[in-house]
Amino acid sequence: MQEKPLPFSKDLDGISKKTIEIHHDKLYVGYVNKSNEIAEKLSVISKQEKIEGNATYSELRALKDAETFANNGVYLHEDYFGSLGGDGKLDATGTLSKALVEKWGSVEQFVKYFSACAMCSRGWTILTWDVRQKKLRIFNGDVHNQGGVWGALPVLALDVYEHAYFIDYGSDRKSYIESYFKNLNWKFAQDAFESYTK
Ligand code: FE
Repeated sequence: MQEKPLPFSKDLDGISKKTIEIHHDKLYVGYVNKSNEIAEKLSVISKQEKIEGNATYSELRALKDAETFANNGVYLHEDYFGSLGGDGKLDATGTLSKALVEKWGSVEQFVKYFSACAMCSRGWTILTWDVRQKKLRIFNGDVHNQGGVWGALPVLALDVYEHAYFIDYGSDRKSYIESYFKNLNWKFAQDAFESYTK
């Protein structure tokens, strides 16, 4: 896979350039590179005549575990950066706004609940569209490859690892989450939602 450039160039309100640079250029790019390295190694193993698949330890087991960690690290960060750089305003006439209101009563209540989910996560909070139930659902993942439900596609992904905010806020995650919503590019979420539901 190929790394994607940061999808916005403006300075964010409350999340520093330094934080975004480290987060995108070092951490995100690191997941892209490791995803490629893992994919190459798996490709070699997949073509071997004898393939060992021991569940206590084998190279294949370690790679299969790392594969989902690295790959989700890429996808979730692309959704996270994609959802930043906006003005925090949601088009109230859009289908996403209507779906949020239908599910949680108001957009404000959704933000309140999503923020509380993010306060109790150790890694990610993700608003998803569950294609089987055809419902909006929020999931928490303590690491990239844990906590999701297959068939639930990300609409919004909020990174709450400390690297996302510690330089700017220390341990004050609540203020970071408020900044996230201030800088939210709702159009990104609306477009994702529309692509899943049309
Ligand atoms: Fe991160």
